[in-house]
Amino acid sequence: MTEVNTQPEVNIGLVGHVDHGKTTLVQALSGSWTDQHSEEMKRGISIRLGYADATFRRCPGVDAPECYTVDEECEDGSESEPLRTVSFVDAPGHETLMATMLSGASIMDGAVLVVSATEDVPQAQTEEHLMALDLIGIENIVIAQNKVDLVDRDRAVDNYRQIQEFVEGTVAEDAPIVPVSAQQEVNLDLLIDAIETEIPTPDRDPSEHARMYAARSFDINRPGATAADLKGGVVGGSLVAGELSVGDGLEIRPGREVDEEGQTEWRPLETTVRSLQAGSNDVESARPGGLLGVGTGLDPSLTKGDALAGQVAGEPGTLPPTRNEFEMQVDLLDRVVGKEDDESGESDIEEISTGEPLMLTVGTATTVGAVTSARDGECEVSLKRPVCAEEGAQIAINRRVGARWRLIGVGTLS
Ligand code: GDP
Ligand code: MG
Repeated sequence: MTEVNTQPEVNIGLVGHVDHGKTTLVQALSGSWTDQHSEEMKRGISIRLGYADATFRRCPGVDAPECYTVDEECEDGSESEPLRTVSFVDAPGHETLMATMLSGASIMDGAVLVVSATEDVPQAQTEEHLMALDLIGIENIVIAQNKVDLVDRDRAVDNYRQIQEFVEGTVAEDAPIVPVSAQQEVNLDLLIDAIETEIPTPDRDPSEHARMYAARSFDINRPGATAADLKGGVVGGSLVAGELSVGDGLEIRPGREVDEEGQTEWRPLETTVRSLQAGSNDVESARPGGLLGVGTGLDPSLTKGDALAGQVAGEPGTLPPTRNEFEMQVDLLDRVVGKEDDESGESDIEEISTGEPLMLTVGTATTVGAVTSARDGECEVSLKRPVCAEEGAQIAINRRVGARWRLIGVGTLS
């Protein structure tokens, strides 16, 4: 068997209601990735965001869609040809906090919306996640109607119509709906076919400045490692532009909080790229797509425990400014989506008011801000923790509704 050592080239989010089969589907498409690539770095950065890579393949001499597979061996015993490697971001199902989903979404190129055929449409997070895709403008969507092995034909057709009706007028209106069974591995070829068509690899310009969103950071040294063996801090995340190579200089913003004479300020960190891990391979150079682990020359105490999660890394001198406060244009939703029947709190969304706390997700950063001024469609916030973000950046705005933070709209940094 040929080992395909390709870096994933596109990030695909798996979204949908809890227990509808997202994780099962990712496993069916990516095989036993957790066993194969259990290196510390890979494991560390995969768990929280739930990334898994899958190589789509084609059996030569077979027509579409039957030719599509993730197996290396075709039914006739011949070897399949690799098409491309994709990276699935399995949005945490039990974690309904919208910001988590959106921080994954800021690095999604497309999404598979998983809807179970066994329940009425939409369930709470089906609606919530579709709304988020709509808001952040993710247009390349495939709908997997899952668990068709558990329903009869009439129920499947009825459920299919419910899905069609539900997505009408949304960003997923034209998305293909593919009946599958993730568990029984039924129709995965049709699903791969749909993903290949609907979620193309974006055009990327390798000459742009490298820009990476950190989702995690850690110290990979074992307790008691000697100074000579000590490895520099590791940052895990997603490269969204440009190219990063071993030996490149790297700036990380906002950086670290420095306390001086009672004054705190954030200072950017500067280091070099010492190693790169893309997909599950050590590479000299990496492009956008999938998860990237960057070994740096930083003191590991600076990266341990996700200290740099939410920060932005790139070529020194090219990063957006660090902001302790900012102004944004605000688009509010019509109502709170995804609320379960037994939850308290208003469903209508009131205007943002001065003084109220908001939870804001910018890139992979989540920070709490207090509204210092609010006008029609605009507001200013002062942040607890600064973010590195440029004008035009999209911000997910969450307000406390009932017992939880709920998505109430999106902002555009002005
Ligand atoms: P997630 O919360 O969306 O990630 O859902 P999981 O992948 O964890 O699946 C929830 C449950 O549904 C698990 O017990 C799965 O084994 C089961 N399941 C997932 N897909 C299918 C399917 O296609 N058919 C059947 N019968 N069960 C499934
Ligand atoms: Mg899951």
